[in-house]
Amino acid sequence: REEEARAAVSEDNLRSPICCIMGHVDTGKTKLLDNIRKTKVQDAEAGGITQQIGATFFPVEAIKQKTAALAKTTNLQYKLPGLLVIDTPGHESFTNLRSRGSSLCDIAILVVDIMHGLEPQTLESLRLLRAKRAPFVVALNKIDRCYSWKTCPDMPIRDALALQNEHVVREFEDRAKKIMVEFAEQGLNAEVYWRNKDLGRTVSLIPTSAITGEGVPDLLMMLTKLTQERMAKSLAFVDILQCTVLEVKVIEGLGTTIDTILVNGSLSEGQTIVVCTLEGPVVSTIRSLLTPHPMKEIRVKGEYVHHQTIKAAMGVKICAQGLEKAVAGTQIHVVGPDDDVEELKDAVMSDLSNIMDSVNAT
Ligand code: GDP
Repeated sequence: REEEARAAVSEDNLRSPICCIMGHVDTGKTKLLDNIRKTKVQDAEAGGITQQIGATFFPVEAIKQKTAALAKTTNLQYKLPGLLVIDTPGHESFTNLRSRGSSLCDIAILVVDIMHGLEPQTLESLRLLRAKRAPFVVALNKIDRCYSWKTCPDMPIRDALALQNEHVVREFEDRAKKIMVEFAEQGLNAEVYWRNKDLGRTVSLIPTSAITGEGVPDLLMMLTKLTQERMAKSLAFVDILQCTVLEVKVIEGLGTTIDTILVNGSLSEGQTIVVCTLEGPVVSTIRSLLTPHPMKEIRVKGEYVHHQTIKAAMGVKICAQGLEKAVAGTQIHVVGPDDDVEELKDAVMSDLSNIMDSVNAT
């Protein structure tokens, strides 16, 4: 079956990339996520941006809408089903959440305050990104703090810059240049994204304001472009399960559930799964697969959308018995018709020792 699944892989059938946000405290990571997530009610009805489990899923329709002003000039094509943005800012999501030994994130946004440049935790993030060889873009956030910036809500950044006074543009250019020098001191080439002629070797700087939204279309456009153009191979949908446990949650009316990130493959109700717990491997049956409601109903607590089958990438809540002691960071396995349950039990538990090793190593 595994051979069959691998043979069916095509770069025309991609899963959603998983994106995480990193950077120094107070650079605007949370605000930036809030801004990207912000939608009008119609958007939620049309495409259904869903506040996920520790992650937010942006369907391609939502990305299209948010990048519409840029799509013509940049000739952006949309091959992705969407983008899954991991919602736990901080290093934790990057180091602990792994999938088959590699980091769970396909691409990262490194947020830098344009007023402050590289700060201690920015350097720490850079160290992690380079150790994992993870591709990333830089959001040069708080551009609205340039002196006498004229607010242009949600506008592509070059259009917004074109509307600014000359001295504002000069201040932006000076600050960007200074930050490029700071990156160079770390041994990294960086360039404002529209002047970046070598996406493979030079990091793109994308000026943004998380408060008023300038540059957010550009950020989404670059994430889309970089992932589908440069990572199509690793983003090919494979019907082999890769699903990582995020945390165990007890929900009234549902009992114990586990929040997971479905990285690749698909999950279905009724499947038998093997999960790593502190008390050994547990074999259980998926009772339900849940995601929260679309945006407009997010405040309705305890209400979820039920799915019979879910495809990657997605944040998914799994209801099944016996998962009270499931271990965060371990992989879930599905028992197929030809699988030996005992072998799968060994596999899930070997994951635990891998996690211990990687925690000790970082
Ligand atoms: P985090 O620690 O990186 O998650 O940063 P927050 O998102 O909590 O933001 C830290 C502070 O910076 C808050 O007071 C935000 O309102 C402010 N902030 C974030 N982004 C921007 C921005 O683009 N422009 C301005 N002027 N302030 C911002």
